[in-house]
Amino acid sequence: MSSSTPYATPLFALLIASCAAAGSAGDPLTDSLEWTEAKRSAAEEADSRASDVIDASREIWGHAELALKESHSSKILADMLEADGFEVQRGVAEMPTAWVASWGSGKPVVAYLAEYDALPGLSQKVSASVEPVEAGAGGHGCGHNLFGAGSVGAGLALKAAMQAHDLPGTVRVYGTPAEEHGIGKVWMVRDGLFDDVDACLSWHPSNENEVSLQPSKALRSFEVTFYGRSAHAAGAPWQGVSALDALEAFETGINLLREHMPESARIHYVVTNGGAAPNIVPSIASAWLFTRGKDWPEEERVYQHVRRIVEGADLMAWGEEHGQADKGFKPAQIQMFTGLYHYNPNERAARQMHANLVLVGPAEYSEENQAFARELQVSFDLEPMGMHAEITPFDPDAAPESGGSTDVANISWVCPTIDLNVANWPMNIPAHSWASTAASGSEAAYKAMIVASKVLACAGVDVLTQPDLVAEMRAEFEESAATFPYVSPVGPDDHPSLPTSMR
Ligand SMILES: [Zn+2]
Ligand SMILES: [Zn+2]
Repeated sequence: MSSSTPYATPLFALLIASCAAAGSAGDPLTDSLEWTEAKRSAAEEADSRASDVIDASREIWGHAELALKESHSSKILADMLEADGFEVQRGVAEMPTAWVASWGSGKPVVAYLAEYDALPGLSQKVSASVEPVEAGAGGHGCGHNLFGAGSVGAGLALKAAMQAHDLPGTVRVYGTPAEEHGIGKVWMVRDGLFDDVDACLSWHPSNENEVSLQPSKALRSFEVTFYGRSAHAAGAPWQGVSALDALEAFETGINLLREHMPESARIHYVVTNGGAAPNIVPSIASAWLFTRGKDWPEEERVYQHVRRIVEGADLMAWGEEHGQADKGFKPAQIQMFTGLYHYNPNERAARQMHANLVLVGPAEYSEENQAFARELQVSFDLEPMGMHAEITPFDPDAAPESGGSTDVANISWVCPTIDLNVANWPMNIPAHSWASTAASGSEAAYKAMIVASKVLACAGVDVLTQPDLVAEMRAEFEESAATFPYVSPVGPDDHPSLPTSMR
C-alpha cells in the first residue's frame, strides 16, 4: 500500500544482482534444494493451470476494482478454488469481499494471501506511454491482479501435490481485500483467522526476483474532523467559529512537529473537507492522515503527539467558548481506520523461500518482453535495463528500511511470515505508477506470476513435509513475537470502514 512500497528495488540490490550468479547465497542448508516428486507435481499443476490463472489475472486487471468494492475480482478467485474442491468461507471479518479457502485437514497449516484491490486514478493500457483505458478510473498499479491470481495458482498447485503424494496438513488461500488502505488483513487477524497457521507464505509483484528481510513501517490511518459554527463570512464573521481555522492550526502544528520527530517517522495528510463556500464560515472541516514510525511504539509516540495537536487546534479556534456545548462547541473527532504493525520477517522462512526461488528459477522473458520493458523504462525516464532475469542473492544483513507499510505485517506478528518478490515489472519501475499498471497487464508479468505460484507451492511442500523446518520457524517467531506482543489496533466493536472521500 501507500506511496512507496516495501517492495521497491534498492539500487544496491540491483548492483549486487548484476555481479552475482543466481542462487549463490552461500547457504548450504537451503541453497542446495533438489526437485522432489511432490515439488514436481506442484510445478506441473502450476503449469497446467497457468492459462486459467492468467485469464483470471487479466480479468481482474481489466476490472480494477477499488478497496472493499472488489466483488467481481474476489468472486473470480474464490470460485476457482471452490470449483477445485476448496471449502470457501465468504464474507469473513465483516467484509463482503474477504474469504478463506481451505483444503485438507490438520497440521501443518500453510497460508497463501490473495490481494485484488486496485488504485484510484491509475487506469492505463498495456502501452509504453501514458494512455488511460478510462480517464480517472482505477488501475492495478500495485499488481494485485497478479498477487491474487498467483496465490490462487499456488494453492491449486500445492493441493495437487498433497493429493498426489498424500501429504499431511491444510492449505489455505486467504482473500484479503483493501490492502491499499491497510484494512483487510488487520480485521482478519483481529478475528483470529491466522492463529493456527504454521507458515504464511506471501509474495508481492516487484521489479526484481528477491527474498529479503526488508522491514516495513508501522502506520495508523485516521480522519480528524473539526466542528465550528457557521455564520456569514462577511456580514458577521465574529459570530462564527471556523472549523477550517482549527484544521489549519492543526496542519501547522503537525508541520512544526515534523522537525522534531525521529527521522524514520512520517506524517502525511490530505484535506477531505475544507468547507462549502468562502462566504460561509465552515462548520465542519476534516483531514485524512497517516502517521508512521519505524516500529509500532515509535508510531504510537508520534500519534499521541498528533492527538494533543488536535486538542490544541480546537482550543485555538474556539477560544473562551471552548468546551461550551450551549455555544455549539463539539470536540474534534478522530475516526480510526486501521493500524499496521512493522513487519516481523522470519529469516528461517526467508531462507527456505529463497532456496525455492533458486530451485524454480526466474521467468524466461522473450526478446519482445524485454523490448517492451525497455520502452517503458525509456518512457519513464529510466535506463533501459529491461526485466530482471536473475535472482538477487539472499543477504540477511541487506535489509534497508522501507518507507512503505503493509497489512501483511500484522500477520507476521501472529504466525511465521515471509514475502517473495518476483520481477513482474521492468527494473526500477516503481509501484503505484502508470508504468507499473501497464506492466501488470503484460505477458512478462504473467510469466513471473506463474514463477511465484511455483515457488510458493514448493515452499509449501517443504512446510508440509519437514517438521524440523516448521519447528525452527516457530522458535524464531516466538522469540521475536515476545518483543512486541500483538494487540489488535482494531477492537471487537470496531468495523471496517473507509475515509469519507473513498466510500
Ligand atoms: Zn500498493
Ligand atoms: Zn501492493
